Amino acid sequence: MYDDRDGSAANQVDQYMEPRFWDMPPWMEYGLCAAGTAPDTWFPENGNRGTTDPAVRAAKAICAVCPVALQCLEHALLRGESGIWGGTTERERRVIIRNQGGTAPC
Ligand code: SF4
Repeated sequence: MYDDRDGSAANQVDQYMEPRFWDMPPWMEYGLCAAGTAPDTWFPENGNRGTTDPAVRAAKAICAVCPVALQCLEHALLRGESGIWGGTTERERRVIIRNQGGTAPC
Protein backbone atom coordinates (compact mmCIF):
# COMPACT_ATOMS: atom_id res chain seq x y z
CA MET A 1 0.00 0.00 0.00
CA TYR A 2 1.29 3.44 -0.96
CA ASP A 3 1.91 5.73 2.00
CA ASP A 4 3.49 9.13 1.37
CA ARG A 5 4.07 9.84 5.06
CA ASP A 6 6.94 7.44 5.71
CA GLY A 7 9.74 9.54 4.15
CA SER A 8 11.32 6.54 2.43
CA ALA A 9 13.66 7.08 -0.48
CA ALA A 10 11.07 5.63 -2.86
CA ASN A 11 8.45 8.11 -1.68
CA GLN A 12 10.89 11.00 -1.93
CA VAL A 13 11.56 10.05 -5.57
CA ASP A 14 7.81 9.77 -6.23
CA GLN A 15 7.16 13.18 -4.71
CA TYR A 16 9.91 14.69 -6.86
CA MET A 17 8.90 13.02 -10.13
CA GLU A 18 5.10 13.08 -10.16
CA PRO A 19 4.52 16.85 -10.24
CA ARG A 20 7.07 17.28 -13.04
CA PHE A 21 5.31 14.65 -15.13
CA TRP A 22 1.73 15.69 -14.52
CA ASP A 23 1.90 19.48 -14.25
CA MET A 24 0.25 21.26 -17.17
CA PRO A 25 2.14 24.10 -18.81
CA PRO A 26 0.49 27.37 -17.66
CA TRP A 27 -0.68 28.32 -21.17
CA MET A 28 -2.93 25.24 -21.38
CA GLU A 29 -5.61 26.74 -19.19
CA TYR A 30 -6.14 29.44 -21.83
CA GLY A 31 -6.62 26.98 -24.68
CA LEU A 32 -10.08 26.93 -26.20
CA CYS A 33 -10.06 23.14 -25.98
CA ALA A 34 -9.99 23.48 -22.19
CA ALA A 35 -13.43 25.11 -22.35
CA GLY A 36 -15.47 21.94 -22.42
CA THR A 37 -15.03 20.50 -25.91
CA ALA A 38 -15.22 16.72 -26.12
CA PRO A 39 -11.78 15.06 -25.97
CA ASP A 40 -12.61 13.18 -29.20
CA THR A 41 -12.54 16.53 -30.99
CA TRP A 42 -8.75 16.60 -30.58
CA PHE A 43 -8.16 12.97 -31.39
CA PRO A 44 -10.37 12.33 -34.44
CA GLU A 45 -10.51 8.78 -35.71
CA ASN A 46 -8.79 9.69 -38.97
CA GLY A 47 -6.75 12.45 -37.43
CA ASN A 48 -3.96 12.40 -39.95
CA ARG A 49 -6.07 12.93 -43.07
CA GLY A 50 -5.85 16.68 -42.66
CA THR A 51 -8.34 19.10 -44.13
CA THR A 52 -10.38 16.44 -45.95
CA ASP A 53 -11.71 15.04 -42.69
CA PRO A 54 -14.67 17.01 -41.26
CA ALA A 55 -13.66 16.19 -37.68
CA VAL A 56 -10.15 17.50 -38.27
CA ARG A 57 -11.53 20.61 -39.93
CA ALA A 58 -13.78 21.25 -36.92
CA ALA A 59 -10.85 20.97 -34.51
CA LYS A 60 -8.66 23.18 -36.68
CA ALA A 61 -11.39 25.84 -36.83
CA ILE A 62 -11.27 26.08 -33.03
CA CYS A 63 -7.46 26.17 -32.99
CA ALA A 64 -7.49 28.95 -35.61
CA VAL A 65 -8.94 31.38 -33.08
CA CYS A 66 -7.21 30.01 -29.98
CA PRO A 67 -5.06 32.57 -28.13
CA VAL A 68 -2.36 30.03 -27.27
CA ALA A 69 -2.09 28.25 -30.62
CA LEU A 70 1.61 29.05 -31.06
CA GLN A 71 2.54 27.78 -27.59
CA CYS A 72 0.44 24.71 -28.26
CA LEU A 73 2.12 23.98 -31.59
CA GLU A 74 5.58 24.46 -30.10
CA HIS A 75 4.71 22.10 -27.26
CA ALA A 76 3.47 19.43 -29.67
CA LEU A 77 6.55 19.75 -31.87
CA LEU A 78 8.87 19.36 -28.90
CA ARG A 79 6.94 16.57 -27.18
CA GLY A 80 5.76 14.53 -30.16
CA GLU A 81 2.14 14.69 -29.08
CA SER A 82 -0.61 12.81 -30.90
CA GLY A 83 -3.86 14.35 -32.11
CA ILE A 84 -4.61 17.92 -33.11
CA TRP A 85 -2.39 20.53 -31.47
CA GLY A 86 -1.90 24.14 -32.49
CA GLY A 87 -4.10 23.62 -35.53
CA THR A 88 -1.98 20.82 -36.95
CA THR A 89 -2.26 17.08 -37.33
CA GLU A 90 0.55 14.68 -36.45
CA ARG A 91 1.40 14.33 -40.12
CA GLU A 92 1.59 18.09 -40.57
CA ARG A 93 3.88 18.41 -37.56
CA ARG A 94 6.16 15.70 -38.94
CA VAL A 95 6.42 17.74 -42.16
CA ILE A 96 7.27 20.89 -40.16
CA ILE A 97 10.00 19.03 -38.28
CA ARG A 98 11.37 17.47 -41.47
CA ASN A 99 11.39 20.85 -43.25
CA GLN A 100 13.37 22.30 -40.36
CA GLY A 101 15.95 19.53 -40.73
CA GLY A 102 15.02 17.74 -37.54
CA THR A 103 13.63 14.39 -36.58
CA ALA A 104 10.37 13.74 -34.76
CA PRO A 105 10.81 13.24 -31.00
CA CYS A 106 9.04 9.88 -31.07
S1 SF4 B 1 -4.44 25.51 -30.37
FE1 SF4 B 1 -6.12 24.01 -30.43
S2 SF4 B 1 -5.37 22.19 -29.35
FE2 SF4 B 1 -4.01 23.93 -28.84
S3 SF4 B 1 -4.78 24.79 -26.92
FE3 SF4 B 1 -5.74 25.92 -28.60
S4 SF4 B 1 -7.67 24.89 -29.03
FE4 SF4 B 1 -6.40 23.49 -27.81
